[in-house]
Amino acid sequence: MTQSTKSDSVMSSLLHQSHPCDDPWNSPDVPLYETTTFLFENTQHVLDVVEGRRPGALYTRYGHNPTLKALEQSLALLEHAETALAFGSGMAALSALFMAYGKKGILVLGETYGGTHELLMQQLSSIGFKIFLSASTQDDMLELIQPGMLVFFESPSNPTLRVHPLSAIAESCHRKGALVAIDSTFATPINQNPLDHGIDFVVHSATKYLGGHSDITAGCIMGSRQLLQSIDVWRKNLGSVLAPSIAHLLQRSLKTLEVRVKAQNQTAMYLAEQLEKHPKIGRVYYPGLASNPGYTVAQEQMRGFGGMLSIDVLGGFKAAQTVADHVRLFILAPSLGGVESLLTQPCTTSHHGMTAHERILIGVGDGMLRLSVGLESPEDLWADLMAALDQIV
Ligand code: PLP
Repeated sequence: MTQSTKSDSVMSSLLHQSHPCDDPWNSPDVPLYETTTFLFENTQHVLDVVEGRRPGALYTRYGHNPTLKALEQSLALLEHAETALAFGSGMAALSALFMAYGKKGILVLGETYGGTHELLMQQLSSIGFKIFLSASTQDDMLELIQPGMLVFFESPSNPTLRVHPLSAIAESCHRKGALVAIDSTFATPINQNPLDHGIDFVVHSATKYLGGHSDITAGCIMGSRQLLQSIDVWRKNLGSVLAPSIAHLLQRSLKTLEVRVKAQNQTAMYLAEQLEKHPKIGRVYYPGLASNPGYTVAQEQMRGFGGMLSIDVLGGFKAAQTVADHVRLFILAPSLGGVESLLTQPCTTSHHGMTAHERILIGVGDGMLRLSVGLESPEDLWADLMAALDQIV
């Protein structure tokens, strides 16, 4: 396969990435190495590979698999990172990150995906991890940061699409001797590259936009080679590496990431503008709307505003339920980032595990619906939403 040059764009480089292994058949794709182990000529060969004198693979669970390595090379390219680690799910990636860097305390900034909240507040707290929650303001955060801590946040966040200032947060954390990680799932590497703003770790649930077809479960972390080393050891011994067959599917999905995300950005913007004018909608949460509190910051650090938006339907739980039960093109399903449009009511799915009080504190009302915009025609999606909104009495 052709080699890319330094001046090529990220997508051109990704599409023409050289194989990390010699392929005698010259496949344009990285082959699937569906194997758990690799053979050696003799004991010296084993030692040369284990001690780093010769390239080679030892065992797939260790991440030593050519298909996985090729995927990680693509993931690193997309996030302008030195290296990347691929995991069996977004939660597996987050767990390894917290295990490796959360021992001196984890400060969570603003709201997060419900599963992450549960992992931090229930599982990790129960085994002695100190978890601190901060409102999103810089001042609150500064008071809580301690040297050695891990600061963690989502931007845009799930499901309120809150945007946090990446460079300012990274600077505050580093000044206080803390490391900082972002879950950038909603943004995708097409719309935002947090490492360029000084963030130390970028995490994605690759189940979402990176996979893009609602058919694989995967996760990843990108960052510097040095910082990812200890996460790699946790991945190895937690056994949470991504399976080669899924890595192969994910690699294929990445090739269309840019075209998918750009189309989703456009449709989401169109729907956000239409919904903002609708009399049955109380509020639209979308970073691309001038009315959004995060609009200016989003414009500074994002190239596109993403395919996710949330709305508050006037009339609360019942009214939102009516819309959710009457959409035809939007599928009622608790995920996001696929080619088909999905819709959920967070209080019944991702945030069901929180108390009503906890949900109110983070701004997730019972009348909120979260929309993941797919690749259908924008006009068809708008007609679908209008027809469902008309069903509210
Ligand atoms: N991060 C965010 C923002 C999510 O929305 C999700 C899942 O919905 C996750 C992480 C967890 O990802 P996974 O389901 O791949 O474990």
